[in-house]
Amino acid sequence: MEHMDLVIKHGTVATASGASVTDIGIDGGRIVQLGGIMSATREIDAEGMFVLPGGVDAHVHLSSPRTGPGIHSWTDDFEIGSRAALAGGVTTVGNMSFPRKGEQMAEGLRRDIDDAQANSLADFFQHPVLLDPDETAMAQIPELAASGHPSIKIFLSFKRFDRNVDGFLRAMRIAADVGSVVLLHCEDAALMGCCGELVREAGLTEHRHYPETRPVVAERIATERAVGFCEISGAATYIVHLSSQAALDTCRGGRARGLPLYVETRPIYLHLERSRFDEPDGAKYAGAPPLREEQDRDALWAGVADGTVSTVATDHAPWTLEQKLDPSLGPAELRQGMAELETSMPMLWSLGVARHRISLARFVEVTSSNPAKLFGMYPQKGCIAPGSDADLVVLDPTETRVIDGADMHSASGYSPYDGWEITGWPKFTISRGDIVAEGSSVEGAPGRGLLVPRRPFERP
Ligand SMILES: [Zn+2]
Repeated sequence: MEHMDLVIKHGTVATASGASVTDIGIDGGRIVQLGGIMSATREIDAEGMFVLPGGVDAHVHLSSPRTGPGIHSWTDDFEIGSRAALAGGVTTVGNMSFPRKGEQMAEGLRRDIDDAQANSLADFFQHPVLLDPDETAMAQIPELAASGHPSIKIFLSFKRFDRNVDGFLRAMRIAADVGSVVLLHCEDAALMGCCGELVREAGLTEHRHYPETRPVVAERIATERAVGFCEISGAATYIVHLSSQAALDTCRGGRARGLPLYVETRPIYLHLERSRFDEPDGAKYAGAPPLREEQDRDALWAGVADGTVSTVATDHAPWTLEQKLDPSLGPAELRQGMAELETSMPMLWSLGVARHRISLARFVEVTSSNPAKLFGMYPQKGCIAPGSDADLVVLDPTETRVIDGADMHSASGYSPYDGWEITGWPKFTISRGDIVAEGSSVEGAPGRGLLVPRRPFERP
């Protein structure tokens, strides 16, 4: 009998294909044995607990905040954000890498990789953001895909998109040829600009009018275009943070026609509704798109349950309450994003699996195996099998905590779910065989996180 580094015993091991009580043997950072007799230096008794593949959150913003007079930036960087991730059971994060002024995609990517390699506690990958589809950027898409970065992000919500739709479509054709997944932020820039003007002209200055500046129609129209771009270019197309029933129905239609179209939603759209903006400090819930109605929320839960939604990712980009509630900001100018890395998996468990809204298998797919497959990391990530990285969450389905953002790892100091009672939290988070979190306390040095090598897209 081989002696191993770590054995997790008596836990219910959940994968995308089922669940059973099985012991897991870990050695050299990898899973080496499932079931059978094994002994190890350290043993975790997971009796009564679930052992899940570590979360793969494909959408976070952890690039170092920029500082300086008049510059406002989110609060979390790779060190802070990856601590939040590990405490919440997320072992791999996918960061949006924005080129700065004068930088090309590849340079911005290099800067963000260096930053993450020095500071992240969690494994990571990067999505280069395509801001300008010029000749240099076009030439970089194949180079990036071939060197382990087979994804690009495009914002239909930026005015620059409509100034150069031809160029962005050409970029999508190149992405299709080289197996690069195209992530699309689907809100129509011109419609939002117009809505912002209408709100201003009507003298509506309160933050609660934020949703009127980014209505469902702006998301639906952009999503319809995205489905068309997917169909014509053939690129694997991943709609980020989809928020409304109308946009979901558009995607369901495209998927039924067999398009390589994938939908991400975000915890806030599963747990919160538009009426939150009527609270006195409603601006703290501002994200893009805004919170929608109850029927949208219910449609998204149904989409997670029936497979129309492929992934749940956080879009983690937190700000302090003071920054969010800044009275100098008009309703169209609110700072978007909030802290969700530490709460995403426990809340999806508590309000999804425990309430029988989604199955255990769907939980594993949307939090781990689907993003790992779509972004070229499976079965190294997103999988509990011999040979896979030992990225695991031992989740205690009986532990109840009341969420208090002031006590969590994000530097934002609040959670949009403050005061919510949630049952089902990670007891241990394990990354490549290291126990990196026990309860909410995180162990591990900044820089222990590794860049995950990725392969070009293959249709799952
Ligand atoms: Zn984002």
